[in-house]
Amino acid sequence: MAIDFSFGQDVEDARLMMREFLHTAVKKEFEAMRNNKDATREDWSTLVKALRGKAKEQGLWLPHMPQDVGGMGLGATALAAVSAEAAKVPMGPYIINAQAPDEGNMHTLYHFATEMQREKFLMPLLEGTARSCFSMTEPEVAGSDPTLIQTSAVEDGDDWVINGHKWFTSGAQGADFAIVIARTDPDASVAQARNSAFIVPTDSEGFEIVRDVETMGGRHNHPEIKYNNVRVPRENLLGERGGGHKLGQVRLGPARLAHCMRWIGQIEMALEMLVDRAQKRFSHGSYLSEKQSIQWMMSDSAMELYASKLMVLHAAYKIENGMEFKQEVSMAKHHVANTLWRVIDRAMQVHGALGYSTDTPLAGMMQQARWARLADGADEVHQMRIAEILIRTFNEDGSINQAVGGLPL
Ligand SMILES: Cc1cc2nc3c(=O)[nH]c(=O)nc-3n(C[C@H](O)[C@H](O)[C@H](O)COP(=O)(O)OP(=O)(O)OC[C@H]3O[C@@H](n4cnc5c(N)ncnc54)[C@H](O)[C@@H]3O)c2cc1C
Repeated sequence: MAIDFSFGQDVEDARLMMREFLHTAVKKEFEAMRNNKDATREDWSTLVKALRGKAKEQGLWLPHMPQDVGGMGLGATALAAVSAEAAKVPMGPYIINAQAPDEGNMHTLYHFATEMQREKFLMPLLEGTARSCFSMTEPEVAGSDPTLIQTSAVEDGDDWVINGHKWFTSGAQGADFAIVIARTDPDASVAQARNSAFIVPTDSEGFEIVRDVETMGGRHNHPEIKYNNVRVPRENLLGERGGGHKLGQVRLGPARLAHCMRWIGQIEMALEMLVDRAQKRFSHGSYLSEKQSIQWMMSDSAMELYASKLMVLHAAYKIENGMEFKQEVSMAKHHVANTLWRVIDRAMQVHGALGYSTDTPLAGMMQQARWARLADGADEVHQMRIAEILIRTFNEDGSINQAVGGLPL
């Protein structure tokens, strides 16, 4: 019997250590700071810095990176367990230096950077002394179709000159550099070979942050940026010329799954709040938890969460074992993002006015959950890709098995 759903002792130890550190030490420090009415922004920032130092000391740093660059060297499945724990604590991913978009950028640099780029750009990210952003989406064209990107990069002597307009470059304010996707080969016969990636320091002349785009959740550092004749040296080309699409795909596969892992932590938290509240609120002769309509919310959420966990673990297993994972990541991303939305909505419903208030974390969680269904591949785009693979697999194999996980049943 080869199927084993338990983690090895080393992974279980890492998960428990992470849980203990974030749920006990970090939560306690945050609570003490919250109770201190005189705490300033600077006090908070000093505390977070100190907690990052502790995480590093305890080896709870860079769970997503290999050991040769100072990471925990966890495989994708172990990472799922650790990331879900981190997402249950405010700033958890940041404290262990596994926050988006740096996390995806670290992966990208690890796989594509030259020696110089590693030293100059990857190392400070790993150390936690620099921040970065990923600049692909443009207001003028559909972000869902990167072959439409208009930002251009043109060779001029030993430099590339970049001109264009981006937005939702998350984390750009405070970032030291951006990984920018720009069109270098407009005439390439394959549309996917038209774009390349560049590392652009944010202090480059012509790098202009126009505004922080305000969202339904307020301002969360998703700026609109203009690239006005931004010059970067030839050596800042990241990966191959014309390889921007490939790089984006390599980055987005595991990065999408990393989002799913964090969302699972949030789903679990919302469902626990729902179950807890339902057993404490009394109405029309019984507790909410005794009413069938509320039990359905619980059971639907439980089933969807269970399926989410299995899908994420299976996609992670495929990544870890060097297997084709595109279909599984698309299915997991769509399913988990929608489960996140539905479970938070149900938890809010059961909390009534309290759920709509900002006295619980649910309102903030819901604002964040909404973008999960449209960023990193909108629902409909994942559905389109899933169907494409399903049709192709059926036509080639006479069976859909390999397009639904390739499981032995
Ligand atoms: C909070 C947040 C953070 C983000 N961070 C980043 C970042 O760091 N860097 C970055 O580059 N971008 C970022 N983005 C942008 C994100 O990647 C894009 O929003 C996403 O790619 C969709 O592009 P779009 O917004 O242009 O929507 P569009 O491509 O215009 O799509 C709009 C809608 O059209 C529908 N649609 C699109 N294509 C199809 C199709 N083929 N079939 C059927 N329906 C379709 C979908 O319903 C989709 O939601 C972020 C977005 C958000 C909300």
